[in-house]
Amino acid sequence: MSDPAPIVAALQYVDTHCHVDLFPDPHAVMREAQAAGVGIVAVTNTPSVFEPMVRLAERFSNVFVAVGLHPELANERESELRLVPGLWAKTRFVGEVGLDGSSRDPALMASQRRVLASFIQCAEQGSRIMTVHSRRAAREVLDALNHVNATVILHWFSGSSSQASEAAKRGWFFSVNSAMLGNDRGRALVASLPRHQVLTETDGPFIQTDGRPARPVDVRHVVDGLAGTWQVEHEEARETVMLNFRRALGAS
Ligand code: MN
Repeated sequence: MSDPAPIVAALQYVDTHCHVDLFPDPHAVMREAQAAGVGIVAVTNTPSVFEPMVRLAERFSNVFVAVGLHPELANERESELRLVPGLWAKTRFVGEVGLDGSSRDPALMASQRRVLASFIQCAEQGSRIMTVHSRRAAREVLDALNHVNATVILHWFSGSSSQASEAAKRGWFFSVNSAMLGNDRGRALVASLPRHQVLTETDGPFIQTDGRPARPVDVRHVVDGLAGTWQVEHEEARETVMLNFRRALGAS
């Protein structure tokens, strides 16, 4: 595992949550980001795709591959948890992990909880930067990760403002995307977050920008949105986000 810090110092932007492996042409996506100085935390949805993604990203120093097991795949892929302890030493990043309360099936929720607990336990091997899904499960994610040995980034957070401030008080980060900035509730939430805990993401290819899947370079538009929210110039918002990302790296 190489130290990302020197590379990060040279980046202009960061997409802390992107599913690079799910684009039809991942190399094109990574190349475009590299040319624009955009760093990518390439989250993965199951442990078995971590190593293939590392190979895909081999020539891209701007891409940091994360090991994860998406809550919506928890039940189907729970057996892959056995791979996770062996992958821990190969990356500083974990994701996509978390809980998704959209499911009403108790067996599926139980599987999600076991998977998340397993990642929390792995973190005892060494602290990681963890990009966390909490849709309709903000309360439970806050409780589950209360004492986790990790730097938590709440990805696409949609909980209440009191839950957001609770997470902020713990020093957790929030990765903001264009969908959050596209509605009043999301914008109000983003405006309420401490600026020094805000990061940027695309969640590509799952979020659309201009009618096509968002790519990492589109975090520039998210920075525009933050600049508008904070009433600062683009450059100041960009620098704030990069400083935050460097702090997140340093803390873990
Ligand atoms: Mn995602």
